[in-house]
Amino acid sequence: MKLKDVFDRSVQFLKERKFESPRLDIELLISHILKIERIEIYLKLDQPLSEDELQRCREALKRRSLGEPVAYIVGQKGFYKQDFLVGAGVLVPRPETELLVERALDFIKLKDIKSPRILDLGAGSGCIGFSILQNAENSTLVSIEKSAEAFHFLKKNFEVQKKSEHIILLNEDVEKIDLDLLKQFDVIVANPPYIDRKDPLVQDSVVRFEPEQALFADNEGLACVDAWFAKFTNSLKSPGIFLVEIGASQGPAVSKLAQKHRPEFKHQILKDLSGLDRVLESVR
Ligand code: GLN
Repeated sequence: MKLKDVFDRSVQFLKERKFESPRLDIELLISHILKIERIEIYLKLDQPLSEDELQRCREALKRRSLGEPVAYIVGQKGFYKQDFLVGAGVLVPRPETELLVERALDFIKLKDIKSPRILDLGAGSGCIGFSILQNAENSTLVSIEKSAEAFHFLKKNFEVQKKSEHIILLNEDVEKIDLDLLKQFDVIVANPPYIDRKDPLVQDSVVRFEPEQALFADNEGLACVDAWFAKFTNSLKSPGIFLVEIGASQGPAVSKLAQKHRPEFKHQILKDLSGLDRVLESVR
């Protein structure tokens, strides 16, 4: 069978099942299986596929049609300027999370911080911390992640980083970590679990495939944001920036909580590209 036929039929298959981005999904799956760039697919449409390639396309399509994230099937996800290795047990990096990276880098530049010390709480794949580190000169990074499954991917991504000698990974619970070990940081970032356990809007495939402990938190989703903010703002230098991702409906509650813990900081809720509240930025 020709690549074109496989491609068209697969896109159609996902379309009929109401997937959001059938064409992109199939481009990503096929380019992974054939080890080519996405754009090359369109140059090779007349090429026949081997039995083995066909079989692998069928398997990938089956997994996708059952709702598994494309990133898990291909084993990686692009975020900011790198690809990160991912799989079951670690949260798939989301484009809206890049806002934390951008704001952190802007702050380092604006304040002309020469050797920034960065802390990434609940680091997961490591995407936020590693992206900042790679784009800020002379920086050092501590990434903390408690889940063993996620830590496995954090380590794998660490191994392919340039400047890995400037990174420390800790497989520990953020809430239990001894602050004296960590000293002061210029930049603290976190994308904690923040979804309300009763939130009816969470996509079914997210709940079924991505790690529960990376997604949901108590207290209407605010438990981690609250605890991490209260604890780690003590570890912030002045000037220093604390950036934490939040849910679209949590802006007002998170502002209040930040103001309560740190009335002396400057707080701001930042919106993502869709115009939704996405990040609490607190500057000391
Ligand atoms: N920091 C990681 C990310 O943003 C993991 C976050 C999490 O597991 N909640 O993708």
